[in-house]
Amino acid sequence: MYTAQTDRYDSMVYNRCGRSGLRLPAISLGLWHNFGGINVLENGRAMIRKAFDLGITHFDLANNYGPPPGSAEENFGTILKKDFLPYRDELIISSKAGFYMWPGPYGEWGSKKYLVASLDQSLKRMGLDYVDIFYHHRPDPGTPFEETMGALDLIVRQGKALYVGISNYRAEEAREAIRILRQLGTPCLIHQPNYSMLSRWIEDGLQDVLEEEGVGTIAFSPLQKGILTDRYLSGIAADSRAAGPSAFLSENDLTEEVLGKVRRLNELAAARGQKMSQLALSWVLRGGRVTSALIGASKVSQIEDAVAAVQAPELSAEELAKIEDILRG
Ligand code: NDP
Repeated sequence: MYTAQTDRYDSMVYNRCGRSGLRLPAISLGLWHNFGGINVLENGRAMIRKAFDLGITHFDLANNYGPPPGSAEENFGTILKKDFLPYRDELIISSKAGFYMWPGPYGEWGSKKYLVASLDQSLKRMGLDYVDIFYHHRPDPGTPFEETMGALDLIVRQGKALYVGISNYRAEEAREAIRILRQLGTPCLIHQPNYSMLSRWIEDGLQDVLEEEGVGTIAFSPLQKGILTDRYLSGIAADSRAAGPSAFLSENDLTEEVLGKVRRLNELAAARGQKMSQLALSWVLRGGRVTSALIGASKVSQIEDAVAAVQAPELSAEELAKIEDILRG
């Protein structure tokens, strides 16, 4: 039997998501890797328990997370049923549709047919009546935005999601999606883009759009899939993502140029009394422009590291300048 820690809300920071009534933890946990059918369920279960005990109320999923696709939602459903049924109203659970999920013309992209069917499948896999946030996972050049946003609006009206969001939309695409959703009466809660010291495209327009429109930002892969940690500073450990079957991180991404920067950043982190991964999170959360940093983890200790970063002192102007210098190379 799992009983959540009674002090779980004592140290996490909860940031308002745009101009909505919803507050999200500064650190959220995503189940893209390490929670699929190929992984050990008990490890995933231990990580979710630890996360919740440390104040992480938000868990992020998508139809295709696994592998195999769908299995992260299935495993999350199993864990929810075993441990979290008494805590459902303390959880913000999200899912998404947009990438390839099943064969034929209705199994990916942005049609109403696909989005509605996919969310129904996700709810079944997780054993839920509704998700808290449902995202369109990537813009679809082949479907009018009116249809995709209309599907998100419909899903909220059907009670299958409380809020909706968009992911991987560029600045102008986001502005258009946000406008249509507002017109439909279902405001866009949040945008989920990649943002880290090594991936800063949102600074070029998107962040301004989201601020103007009062839409929250949850930054995915703030550790750049593990590169912005001490993971690869002395080789590629056998249990790391780069050594595993993931198509999204390999030895080729770990160039000497990138690792050289991470080494220098790691020294700066140590001077602040932080680990490299914690510095990367402090940086993403600096200045309050990002609502939540959406991390991944393969071990309980990584979740502890991330949550501890929330308590770290703000980065000073001098430290930020040093970081810019290192990132410029
Ligand atoms: P991160 O950038 O946070 O990378 C997580 C990885 O970093 C972990 O799996 C681990 O690697 C390593 N790591 C974490 N903490 C530490 C630590 N303290 N010390 C050393 N290494 C550490 O995020 P992800 O790439 O996992 O993405 C996070 C979430 O973002 C996903 O689960 C998903 O919810 C979302 N996402 C959304 C996308 C979208 O298109 N909307 C796309 C991608 C992600 P290792 O496994 O090697 O131990």
